[in-house]
Amino acid sequence: MNIETALARRALPNDQEASGRNFGDREIAYLSEALGTGTLTSTKGRFVKALERSFADMLNVKYAYACSSGSAAVHCAIAALDLEPGDEVVTSPITDMGALAPILYQGAIPVFADVDPVTLNVTARTIEAALSDRTRAIVVTHLFGTPCEMNEIEALAQRNNLPIVEDCAQAFLATHRDRYVGTIGRIGAFSLQQGKHVTTGEGGIVVTNDDALARRIFLFINKAWGYGDREPDHYFLALNYRMSELQGAVGLAQIEKLERAVERRVLLASILTKWLESSPGLSVPVTPVDARSVYWRYAIRIDQGLFAGGPPAFAKLLKDRDILTAPRYIQKPAFECEIFREQRTFGKSRWPFTLARPEAVRYDRDRYPGVYRGLDGVLVIPWNDRLSIGDVEYIARSIISTAHDLRRSA
Ligand SMILES: *Cc1c(COP(=O)(O)O)cnc(C)c1O
Repeated sequence: MNIETALARRALPNDQEASGRNFGDREIAYLSEALGTGTLTSTKGRFVKALERSFADMLNVKYAYACSSGSAAVHCAIAALDLEPGDEVVTSPITDMGALAPILYQGAIPVFADVDPVTLNVTARTIEAALSDRTRAIVVTHLFGTPCEMNEIEALAQRNNLPIVEDCAQAFLATHRDRYVGTIGRIGAFSLQQGKHVTTGEGGIVVTNDDALARRIFLFINKAWGYGDREPDHYFLALNYRMSELQGAVGLAQIEKLERAVERRVLLASILTKWLESSPGLSVPVTPVDARSVYWRYAIRIDQGLFAGGPPAFAKLLKDRDILTAPRYIQKPAFECEIFREQRTFGKSRWPFTLARPEAVRYDRDRYPGVYRGLDGVLVIPWNDRLSIGDVEYIARSIISTAHDLRRSA
């Protein structure tokens, strides 16, 4: 085959607009039904409740509560744990800020574990190094849809009597040893933001099997008002984090499409892996034994010794072929952002950082070899269930040809 024909430019699906999303008649039908009822608040409507039921059934978990964002979902999880100010929560510095800000809002201190330089996920070993006598919880992010090594993390958590919160914003229906992520720890948090596996524009879901935590999550979404109680009150400090029925209607239709979308992403990823796995200097994604990644993104590693310019050079050449990859994924680890570097929180108070052990908020580079090595070597390829087999072949051939060009000039 003529390589030039094979590499004729293609417009790839983009999850920020219609080409990369699967909205259709179902969403429209539910939306118009919701509007027809005239009830757009989930306290009275049926769509958010149906979305919660259908998601809980899919994950085989006792409770699912929808809320206004993935950040709100993590906030609900942290608030449900009812931590004391100054308590420490061990977490990852390679995640969305929406997974970290809630810890500070609850007066607790995020303590950053290093990550595995290959998967960019936290591990039992890196979490253990960040534990102290003030640690009260562990938050893991299953980055790019690849589960963390949960058996070892669970064992560590059990030994130390710590609850695990799983941030599954990128990991819908990912599994580890036949368990869905989000149901392995005490609480799972999901995001329905525009760029996730399925979406309501903005939105989130919290899941748990624990009755008492479920009660607090429900209350935290509802200003801690005891709906249905004999003498309801506002029981504690909480916000209105409800999802509206408009989002619930779209979300219900989207959840019906979730399993197919995930299957498709996994299948397409296996095809790209076949293309790339024997390319010298490129490493395909690594998934733990007995785990299933659901490929929110397809992250490859690039041997910087072999290619001139490393991942940024790949990104530049791939952009010329309309493949918009992200070298580094995020520009810097979370602790280099101003919120942590300058401790910008409430007025000039720096609270709750003022309560922290000095050691817990020292972010020296040499504590995070995995973070820096991981970010330097990664190239993140946007992934989508609406890619065609031809699109995947185009991506594969473009990467292989880019590798060829960069290697020669090295
Ligand atoms: C998107 C995301 C969040 C935050 O979700 P929002 O809906 O944007 O608030 C949290 N954690 C991770 C890992 C994410 O990818």
